[in-house]
Amino acid sequence: MRNMVARTCALLLAAFLMQIPTSAAAQTTPEPIRYTLSFPAPHTNYFEVSAVVPTGARPEVELMMAVWTPGSYLVREYSRQVEGVTATAQGGRTLAVDKSDKNRWRIATGGATSVTVKYRVYAREMSVRTNWVEADFAMLNGAPTFLTLVGGEKWPHEVVIEPARGWRSSVTSLPAMPGSSHRYRAADYDELVDSPILIGNPAIYEFLVDDKKHYLVNIGEAGVFDGARAAKDVETIIREQKRFWGSLPYDRYLVMNVLTAVPGQIAGGGLEHKHSTMLIAGRWATRTRQSYLAWLELASHEIFHAWNVKRLRPVELGPFDYENENFTRSLWVVEGVTDYYGELIVHRAGLSTEIEYLDALSNKIEEIQTTPGRAVQSAALASQDAWIKYYRPDENSPNSSVSYYTKGAVVGFALDARIRKATGGARSLDDVMRAAYQKFSGTRGYTPAEFRTVAEEVAGVSLAAFWDVAIDGTAEIDYAEALDFLGLQFRAVEAPRPDRPGRAWLGATTRNDAGRLVVSQVRRDSPAVAAGLNVDDEIIAIDAFRVRADQLSPRLDQYKPGDKVRLLVARRDQLMTLDIQFGTEPPRQWRLVVNPGATDTQQRQRDRWLKPQA
Ligand SMILES: [Zn+2]
Repeated sequence: MRNMVARTCALLLAAFLMQIPTSAAAQTTPEPIRYTLSFPAPHTNYFEVSAVVPTGARPEVELMMAVWTPGSYLVREYSRQVEGVTATAQGGRTLAVDKSDKNRWRIATGGATSVTVKYRVYAREMSVRTNWVEADFAMLNGAPTFLTLVGGEKWPHEVVIEPARGWRSSVTSLPAMPGSSHRYRAADYDELVDSPILIGNPAIYEFLVDDKKHYLVNIGEAGVFDGARAAKDVETIIREQKRFWGSLPYDRYLVMNVLTAVPGQIAGGGLEHKHSTMLIAGRWATRTRQSYLAWLELASHEIFHAWNVKRLRPVELGPFDYENENFTRSLWVVEGVTDYYGELIVHRAGLSTEIEYLDALSNKIEEIQTTPGRAVQSAALASQDAWIKYYRPDENSPNSSVSYYTKGAVVGFALDARIRKATGGARSLDDVMRAAYQKFSGTRGYTPAEFRTVAEEVAGVSLAAFWDVAIDGTAEIDYAEALDFLGLQFRAVEAPRPDRPGRAWLGATTRNDAGRLVVSQVRRDSPAVAAGLNVDDEIIAIDAFRVRADQLSPRLDQYKPGDKVRLLVARRDQLMTLDIQFGTEPPRQWRLVVNPGATDTQQRQRDRWLKPQA
């Protein structure tokens, strides 16, 4: 199977190079920056870049490397992996290079009309926003790879790839240039950064949706990932997304899928682009129902982004400032609403059951309702502070913050139900997204107020109170309306019984540190925090009895809520005792199920929500 796929690939790739409309830009001005990427020793995790940079005959030019990648809101300081920057003029004359800022290099051109800049990049961070190079393949992203000319961001950028020995394919959404293979051209720096590149010997599966070519490109199938099945199901998802939005917003689309060893064999992550997405997932992802659903939902989420954020975007997310944070209060729309629909569309496409979908939504509701930070940080502020909080979590994050992914998805569900109820089921959040896309997917983007206005126009009522609670505030979300309208109810995982009033609860999570029982998190408003238990305290004994690292849970079973005990702990090697009164473990009461007593009307509204095409 693998050989067959590889043979098919070479043909596909040739066909796909021919198909690409080559921009007639070869002779347009200004002149492009021309990069050559080479991999003389990929086993060392390094690759080399040579860039011919037009200077416009200026005495000095300055080059810049992005500090972050759009879609992943953290300053990552990519330039720390760049080394050996040199510059030469025509004829090989060496030019002075001055490191003028953390991510900038200034070059004295000596009047040369173009300079050749060379550098090496260390590429060994396996994520969808960084680079990875090893003996068998390269996964490259634009931001951590290409230095560009300050002021030349609107110029074309050409890329020539010299694959390592034995690597047959290079795959990217960048338009190919005519002539030999592995030559691409980005219209500008934005397109370059938005177009990751895979090089090696991937398995490539082609399919058509609306006569547009789509590719699933798998690196590392290793005989265990079922690429053919995954391609068929991704096609089904894209058809459903097209049904949702009305049309496909691109001419060609690639799902690049790097398969690796991800702990727990669940999906590892994805990053959205205008004409592609990069996924990293476990190579065993197609082997179990749970991991496969997670992979399909990841793919669905990233594909939904082809509309939501890559074209319909908050006003702050474009044009990008690649050297500084780009703050927006709308990541709950960008990521949360995308997360809501990522899973819902997998269900609507017939790839998950109603029970599986309700379970996925329940997980999100349960996560929010058991995260104390929901009372501290709103969805809007979680969005704005992504750069300093979401992407920089620590042991106190659950107490002080909320995920704009999860909160945004839950808010999306509640908002969807609110609009359905307000319109008697005639309109929904689907209509809001489509209307916002029609209105704001041009060059400008939407402000938070404009997005809300679109939602209110669709709902036909004011959503001020909803926004105050769910988006801008931290009050509890009221699920009653959504559950009632859709004929759902919450079911507790373990219903409390009179003979079992609940379990003794400490309110701290622990880790096994080489046999030591060490506190890793202390939950706000818990017995642990009231007793003064701190993160990194080692719990040695409860009352007079030693408790070993793997024994905390069975030991807590011996106590009831309200029992008072004395903990012996070591804090930075100093022994101390802490008096604590156990609380009651919060029940898991957030599992959505169909209300068996639901009326026909409720049933009909639920069907419209889950199967709008039927
Ligand atoms: Zn996303």
